[in-house]
Amino acid sequence: MSYSHQFIDGSHSILPVGKVVCVGRNYMEHARELNNPVPSMPLLFMKPATALSAIREPIRIPAYSNDCQHEIELAVLMGRKLSSAVVTEVSQAIAGYGLALDLTLRDIQQQLKQQGLPWERAKAFDGSCPITPFVRTELIDNPQQLEFSLTLNGIIKQRGNTQNMIWPIYELLAHISNYFTLMPGDIVLTGTPAGVGSLQAGDELILELARYSRFLAKVAG
Ligand code: ZN
Repeated sequence: MSYSHQFIDGSHSILPVGKVVCVGRNYMEHARELNNPVPSMPLLFMKPATALSAIREPIRIPAYSNDCQHEIELAVLMGRKLSSAVVTEVSQAIAGYGLALDLTLRDIQQQLKQQGLPWERAKAFDGSCPITPFVRTELIDNPQQLEFSLTLNGIIKQRGNTQNMIWPIYELLAHISNYFTLMPGDIVLTGTPAGVGSLQAGDELILELARYSRFLAKVAG
């Protein structure tokens, strides 16, 4: 199925589908759980547009991995171009907020890390970014105080609050825009809180964004 951005009222967005810029280690507890140092600058990587998949589509785990892990993250949808921006310019460029899974083949990523190689095979494969419809920016009271959670087969596995980010959303996007121009329709994933773990065929997930949205997802059997 081809992906297009959608809002929670069911309407499809006219914004094009672009790249996904991701930040690693933006929550202290998650950096600790993987024994990673907390970096002094945001750790950035990207997923191509082909990584995006609507959350209603079955999640497919590539056959070359035995450890596909969930990382739930607040996803920011860009409504306007942002290039070499200052923090005060960022909010008006955001069209909406949703949730995404930064699917990570942890076994493959470990091998690549050990060899000093890039992570794309572990994080940028087709369907590696299942994503929910977006809540329009004007409906969100304060994006820096959003609770979100991932429930796996009835058990809450990850619970985060955007107030615990090491780099807050506007600072993060301004920083990113100095390296990669963010275009309308691009998405930024803002990092995962603690509690990442493996997915298995047939798993059922619930992605919940504060009082705004709640979506079900399923791993293909
Ligand atoms: Zn992530």
